[in-house]
Amino acid sequence: MIMLRYGNTNTFYIPGRSGGLLLDTDWAGTLNAFYRALKTNGLSLKDIRCVMATHYHPDHMGLVGSLTEMGAGLLLADVQKDAVHFSDRIFERDRLPFTPVSEEKAAVISCGESRAFLAGLGIAGEIVHTPSHSADSVSLILDDGDCFVGDLEPYEYLAAYENNPALKRDWERILSFSPKRIFYAHMPPSVPIRGQALRPEDPGRVP
Ligand SMILES: [Zn+2]
Repeated sequence: MIMLRYGNTNTFYIPGRSGGLLLDTDWAGTLNAFYRALKTNGLSLKDIRCVMATHYHPDHMGLVGSLTEMGAGLLLADVQKDAVHFSDRIFERDRLPFTPVSEEKAAVISCGESRAFLAGLGIAGEIVHTPSHSADSVSLILDDGDCFVGDLEPYEYLAAYENNPALKRDWERILSFSPKRIFYAHMPPSVPIRGQALRPEDPGRVP
């Protein structure tokens, strides 16, 4: 896994069999900075077989349309279909250069189909729906223990809420995979501690 930073959002490149998966991008208008970050990390556009956004807020999908227009595949979870143009009006308002996402070119899959799809890319893992941040938010959990949660609030925050069942549900789901490292879009990674209270007692029961 390679973490690219060229603005305020962490972008992750997960190598696959022939080319890899790019998860999240920064805002529209950051394409040149993105190119530089690719080069710095020994990557080029042709290494990006597929791009996916954890969700379609502007600071996560600003380059998705441009990259897919230049030949990267677009991976879209079915729960994201209605959200792909959420940020278009924000970029228009801010007069930023951007290419709207062409969802008709996307591979649209359910989270249940994601393991098989990712295996086709040579990536072992799956995508899970974690909607507490936004209805279209998903997390990518790799079998090697790396887990990418986008804008999901850190599980440490749970203790600060009197009641936040949606966030609790998302973390129970994620922790049921026993991830080793949690990567956030805007903060440093964290390492879950085994056996802590947030871990579900019976992961099999978590929907
Ligand atoms: Zn967000």
